[in-house]
Amino acid sequence: MKKPIYVTQPYLPPLEEFMPFLEQIWESKILTNGGPFHFQLEKALCEYLGVDHIALFTNGTIALVTALQALRITGEVITTPYSFVATSHSLLWNGIKPVFVDIDPCTLNLDPTKIEAAITPQTTAIMPVHCYGHPCDVESIQKIADNYNLKVIYDAAHAFGVKNAQGSILQYGDLSVLSFHATKVFNTFEGGAIVCPDLKTKVRIDQFKNFGHVGEVTVVAPGINGKMSEFNAALGLLQLKHLENALVSRKKIDEAYREKLKDVKGIHCLTGTGESVANYAYFPILVKADYPLSRDELYLTLKENDIHPRRYFYPLISEFPMYRGLPSANRENLSVATASSLEVLCLPIYPGLDMDIIDEISNLIAAK
Ligand SMILES: *Cc1c(COP(=O)(O)O)cnc(C)c1O
Repeated sequence: MKKPIYVTQPYLPPLEEFMPFLEQIWESKILTNGGPFHFQLEKALCEYLGVDHIALFTNGTIALVTALQALRITGEVITTPYSFVATSHSLLWNGIKPVFVDIDPCTLNLDPTKIEAAITPQTTAIMPVHCYGHPCDVESIQKIADNYNLKVIYDAAHAFGVKNAQGSILQYGDLSVLSFHATKVFNTFEGGAIVCPDLKTKVRIDQFKNFGHVGEVTVVAPGINGKMSEFNAALGLLQLKHLENALVSRKKIDEAYREKLKDVKGIHCLTGTGESVANYAYFPILVKADYPLSRDELYLTLKENDIHPRRYFYPLISEFPMYRGLPSANRENLSVATASSLEVLCLPIYPGLDMDIIDEISNLIAAK
């Protein structure tokens, strides 16, 4: 019996390497509230990512909700329907109306040429996603934001470690939000972070993630509990040590798929534009009309062979019941996103995935 192959498998460091960290936690009895591992991980991540300030969180979704709170975003926010549902949910949790704008057919990121038409007097911010870790058109988005005095909060959950010619992609916009969920390139089991441009903003965000506490007896905001525990922070420090190897492994898989699928008619392997350092977080293909099977038929064929790709992102966020009544959720407004969500399939990619499996998957796709 062969083992099922899933779209991803969480990366775990050798257990024995984690034991000394646990012993230190048991010794110190500091479990959370900004302990030594929390402090060390923030510092290590700033260095690794090439950013100045970072605030760790319990997960990416609470970080998104808090980022919107910290910038006092209200009214309407322009965002993409082509993402994981947490992107828009963070808006609803703040009583903000999501306004969906279509995506670019090459990158599947928010299409900057379509943003302006969606701006109203209520618009206060743009929330794009660096989908699959492929950078958004950050320059064009910033130009629009500057013209209309809008904030930009990037959902950078897929974009850990991604750089363009200027450095970290996480430096763009007012804030960038990361996720360290088990399924992401860098994981702390659960976790997340906000990349902040300056210390003042980081301090404010740190207050927000700790109930709004400032000192022992003062509460300055209706904050939340978004703190990362020492367990997760310690694990993050260890994960960072293994990340380079994990990325090398992902890159090899990415290259192998591209080589094997390059002549398959009707299969388009998505590529980012503008990254000088990629993270190979996902391997999305588009199943076009000239492929002999529909996307869903290919999906089922692979599943019959115990290969379990995922249709990220199908359905679109705008199709879910809490969004589909919005004027911007109609399919004519979102024609590229709608078409892409019906064509996309994310193939298995994770460190240590056997090259024989890549062959098998590619052969199954090419044999049709
Ligand atoms: C994973 C993910 C999130 C949510 O992060 P969590 O850490 O799971 O809360 C948000 N947005 C996108 C695009 C994601 O992929």
